[in-house]
Amino acid sequence: MNMTGIVYRPPYEANSLLLQVTLGCSHNKCTFCYMYPDVQFKVCPMEEVEADIEEATRYCPNVKRVFLEHGDAFVLSAEKLLKIADAIHRKLPKVETIAMYASIQNIKTKTDEELQLLRAAGIHGLDIGVESGLDAALTYMNKGHTSAEAREQLLRLTKAGMDYSFNAILGCGGAELWKENADATADLINAVQPHLLFIGSLHAQPGCRLYQDMKSGTFKECNIGQLLDEQERLIQRLDLKDTYYFGSHPSNLVPMQAKLPDQKQDMLEAVQETREQLRAHLDEVPVRGGEGSILNR
Ligand code: SF4
Repeated sequence: MNMTGIVYRPPYEANSLLLQVTLGCSHNKCTFCYMYPDVQFKVCPMEEVEADIEEATRYCPNVKRVFLEHGDAFVLSAEKLLKIADAIHRKLPKVETIAMYASIQNIKTKTDEELQLLRAAGIHGLDIGVESGLDAALTYMNKGHTSAEAREQLLRLTKAGMDYSFNAILGCGGAELWKENADATADLINAVQPHLLFIGSLHAQPGCRLYQDMKSGTFKECNIGQLLDEQERLIQRLDLKDTYYFGSHPSNLVPMQAKLPDQKQDMLEAVQETREQLRAHLDEVPVRGGEGSILNR
């Protein structure tokens, strides 16, 4: 299988067939992103995609789930995605779901009818970097969408029958807006009721604007106590009917996976326990290692 550049995938796609249909990210401007700094966005020719599917028939003929790469494969037109889905189903008949990263803008460019056709073709389980429900944070992070746009587009996905992961980043509002970020993000999550909520915490690496802004002090990041307070406030405010909270990303202070609403109290207790354990470090800013893991804890 040909794959160009570093390949990122959500942790729950570990058993999926990764199929490259684009190179890089069509947006490539998020303030915190260091995934594709020097990669020129490109759409892979259909012949290349078909050759990779053919190759997959030899080593994973029974695969059930395919994840389309790279950064926002849902940017492809509905027509091209339907062609890819058709090629997958013809050669790999056991495939049930075709997932991929998607942005709010990628959804906006598709009609309701196209979303329904894509869902009928097995496209489901999109992974969406919404990041925050606070417009000030979204603007600084250069996400290219507002909170209201995210709400509208995510509800369109639900109407088309498509499940998705709502990815949110604790700390997006920085030390000054952590309360507002928690409240606005929880309100947006409550409004759209995602099937899956993927939580990480804000971190930066050399090569992205956020890293420079943190170094210069233009962006004041949350300290450990504020990150815990923000997570607690977010969980307290969540009012969800049936959502899986996936918070095992290494950047999180309190790794947890839980069902909401059933395990809300357990989640809050886990945050309180971590606060007690880290009492001596609450005023420190996180010292980060690989994948944003917090070392001073
Ligand atoms: S949309 Fe995703 S991959 Fe693209 S720049 Fe933003 S965070 Fe990075």
